[in-house]
Amino acid sequence: MAATSPFVVPVGELLRHPGQVRPVRVEAPVDWGVEYSVTIGEPPLTAALELTAVPGGVVIRGSVEVTMRSTCARCLAETDHVHRVEVVELARPTDDGTDDAGDAYPLDGERLDLEPIIRDDVLLALPLLWRCDPPCQGLVPGSIDQASGEGLGEALQNDLNTAAPGRRSDSPFAALRDVFETGD
Ligand SMILES: [Zn+2]
Repeated sequence: MAATSPFVVPVGELLRHPGQVRPVRVEAPVDWGVEYSVTIGEPPLTAALELTAVPGGVVIRGSVEVTMRSTCARCLAETDHVHRVEVVELARPTDDGTDDAGDAYPLDGERLDLEPIIRDDVLLALPLLWRCDPPCQGLVPGSIDQASGEGLGEALQNDLNTAAPGRRSDSPFAALRDVFETGD
């Protein structure tokens, strides 16, 4: 872990006083993500946490807010949204004589790196697939603008409305229009 990371906090004093609570606030841009959802640096992630010394470790508890850019699985439109996550985790010293930390995060010496803890909770709290809200019309073949998502769904309707009756076109909707007009 980098000594200068804003996520690294000294906990030596805390560990010597079980029961003590220490507020920690972290504000930092992060570069995390999964295939369809990534953090954007502005505004930076904020974490308002309380560290509590307990026998055998430190409990990390609090809330995290980070702005993410997610891609809709249906229409591929990108949406920026605030992702809020509640964190409740345990970090346990790795030198306490046991090899098995269980579900706890390792606490190496007297410095606690909050980054892997917060990152895991942020990414695990994402839905399996991102979808527009309200639900979008999905991706229409040959749609106008995949990058912005604008015009999706409306594309088919506009094409049907503006085309002259009986006139064939190169439009990808031409075949579909024929179906509408002939009724079969
Ligand atoms: Zn969508």
